[in-house]
This record gives sequence, C-alpha cells and structure tokens, in this order.
Amino acid sequence: MLGHQVFCTNCNHQRNALHAQSKWLVCTACQHLFSPDDKNVKIKISTFRAAQCELLKLGDEYTSEKGTYILTGKIVKQELIDTSAIWTEYCFTNENNENLFLSEYNGHWNQIEEAETFDFLQEKPSNSFINPNKKNVDIENGNYYLYHHYQLKIDYVEGEFNFNPFEDNGNIAFEYVKRGHLRIVEEKRGNKGILSFCYKGEYLFPNEVLAGLTRKIDMPDKIGYVGNQPFYWNWDIPFFRLMSLFTIIAMLGIAFAFYIEKKQIAKLDRIFIRGDESKNDSLGLYKKSPLVVSTPFELTYDYGLLSVEFTCDDLQNDWAGAEIALVNTKTDETRYCVIEAEYYSGTDSDGAWREGSHRNTGVIEHIPKGTYQLEIQAIAQANSNPKTIVLDIYAARGSLNLCWTFVGMLIILNIILWLVEDYFIWLKGGENSINWDSENSS
Ligand SMILES: [Zn+2]
Repeated sequence: MLGHQVFCTNCNHQRNALHAQSKWLVCTACQHLFSPDDKNVKIKISTFRAAQCELLKLGDEYTSEKGTYILTGKIVKQELIDTSAIWTEYCFTNENNENLFLSEYNGHWNQIEEAETFDFLQEKPSNSFINPNKKNVDIENGNYYLYHHYQLKIDYVEGEFNFNPFEDNGNIAFEYVKRGHLRIVEEKRGNKGILSFCYKGEYLFPNEVLAGLTRKIDMPDKIGYVGNQPFYWNWDIPFFRLMSLFTIIAMLGIAFAFYIEKKQIAKLDRIFIRGDESKNDSLGLYKKSPLVVSTPFELTYDYGLLSVEFTCDDLQNDWAGAEIALVNTKTDETRYCVIEAEYYSGTDSDGAWREGSHRNTGVIEHIPKGTYQLEIQAIAQANSNPKTIVLDIYAARGSLNLCWTFVGMLIILNIILWLVEDYFIWLKGGENSINWDSENSS
C-alpha cells in the first residue's frame, strides 16, 4: 500500500512511506535507519555527505525503457582507500520492476539494475572469479574488462529501501566494462570469494539522464579524464553523418546545375605556331604564334567563370602553351591565364611509356558580365615541329572550387569522426584498456 504509515522504532516519529515495499527507512527526525519488521535495526546515519546527494530529491521521477520509477532512497558511498572518491547512488523503485539505480560520480553517470543471475557466475562459482589480477571475463558472449575495483563504505543514507542499504557496506566492488556497458560484482566483506551482488548497467550521458528525469536539474560538471571515470564522446555523430550526406547531395546537385549551364561561346581552331619567331626569356628558348584576337562575345553571368580547353595534337616529346588575355572591350580591363600541355613518350626496358597529355584546361574566375574578347598568343618549344592549337572557350555561372573543397572537408571530417568515434567508445569502456590488452595474452 502506497503512503502507508510507519513509526520510527527509535524515536517513534510517524511518517508516510513512499513505497509499499519499503522495509528499511531513515527517520527524518532522529536520523536512524530502522525497520518496522525488525526492532533490532537501528543505525545512526552520518550527515557528513548529505550535500552530495541533494541533486535529486526523494519523490523525483525517472523513466527508463522499463517504466517510470520514483526516487525513494539515496546513498552516498566513499572509497576506503581513495577517500576523495564519492559515489552518490539514487535508488528508484517501481511497483512492478526491480530497483533501478542512478549512480553519479564526478558528473559521470551510470544506470544500474538490480542483481541478475549471470551465466558466467553459474559456470564459475569458485573464488577464482573475484581476483583483481583477472583483467577480463566473458559475460554473455562479450569480453568485459576490469575497469576498477574498490571498497565502498556508506557515508550517508536518506529515504527508504526494500533492502537493507547497509547489507553491502564495506563490500569490495569490481567494475567490469565493455563499450559503455558495465557489470558490477560485489564480494561480501570479510568473505573472500563469496559474491554478494551482481549488477548490470550502462554508462549514461548527462543528457540521457536528463531525458529520463521528470524534474529537470542542473547537471554537475564532469570532472576528470579517463583516470577517474570512463570518458565518452557526447556528439551525435550519426546525425552529423546524415546531415553531411544531405549537404554533399545538395552540393553535387549545384555542381550538376552549374555543369549543364556551362555553354560554349567560342572555338579557336586555327592558331598556328611555326618556326619563324623564336625568343629567349625566363621560359628559355621558345617560339610564338602571331597574336590571335577573337571576335567579341557577351558574358552574361556576373562574376562567372571562363574555362579554356587547350588541345594540341602535334605534341611529340615537347610542350606547347597559350598566353591568354581576356579583355573587356569597354573598359580594357584585362585578365590573364596561361595554359600549357606537355607530352612525352618512348620505350625503355619496361616497354613503351607515355607521360603528359595533349590537353589541358585553364580557368579565369570572377569575371563581371560584359562584352569581352580574347587575345591569344600560343607558344612552343624552340626548334620543334610546327603545331596547331585548338581552344574551346566555355562560360559558366561560377567556380565549383568552393563546392568541391566543402564536399572534401565534409568527407574528411566524417572519416576523422568515424575513426575517433571508435576510439572514444573504446575509452568509454574503461581507463586501463591499454594495460589490459597487454595482459590479456597471459
Ligand atoms: Zn526516529
């Protein structure tokens, strides 16, 4: 019966129980743990660590996959050896389910369910299981690593319980972890090798805890790196991955739209380089064609792009190029571009080889719309055979460099996240994985 009346066996203070199954309660008047069924249970509760568990209040509701629970008890535990290590356990109860515990330590959370019977315990009931030197165990076909073992002493208790919270006081707990999941096995104090409880649980992100709580609280800051508690990655990487995919598809759509809008505005196919005009400057010894001037044409895209496809089929173990000036016929504003192609071939001990290409492409970007003409001078290696250059001139709406850069960055970022995600999930599995791995083989 929920809300039934109980009387403190120490001071006779009357109160309402929060939960029908509560057998052990802490009196709010005299701070003693008492049991209505057992008049001998009277434990004075220290209040030293009371502030530690003010985060959640008795009566708070928490919803997990199994249902909605009510917070009926709080326990603060201290590590006996490292006394700075304080665990706060919130005991939630539900009419139909086993207890559920939320445990907070330095802002790190885990959710632990009531003891289960594990196959591995039935198989290995001997005291060989509880052994700090045994670094990993197989549980339900998964390999769990020993994250930590500690002896916990109860410092503060508040509320009511359907178990005696002091039953496991001073027990040695072994925390085994595997990729965010954990098992806690407790060895009964003073009875080496005798198992007290086995708990099953998982690490939770603070936002996962918040999502389950009806009353929203200010989460404590997470303190410490992997040395204190398993550290884990709190980004929603799958969502980022999905958004990246949509962005890349959108980018490819834009690229395709730009591609089909690209239009040919000129073809200059009679640019001849003969052997008559040789020069020597920074390029070395070379020869030039006469200056070729195109007929004027309109560029209709503002800050658009002009691409020049250069073809020279006469290349034979030499190079050719074109110096291109795009001149605005009204303002004489001039933009330049140089394209070069080289092609070499031959035969060596590995057979025939080819290097280079007869084609190349040059681009002039960010061109204001207007009337333009091209002034072209083709160049080729001195003393080479006569050549014919063909130039195909295309106009497009704009450059896709930024688009490809962005797509490339998204892909690289996703690859990095894919790599570190695994790493951080692995870290979530425990602090000493590196050492354990080396000891597994023994
Ligand atoms: Zn009392």
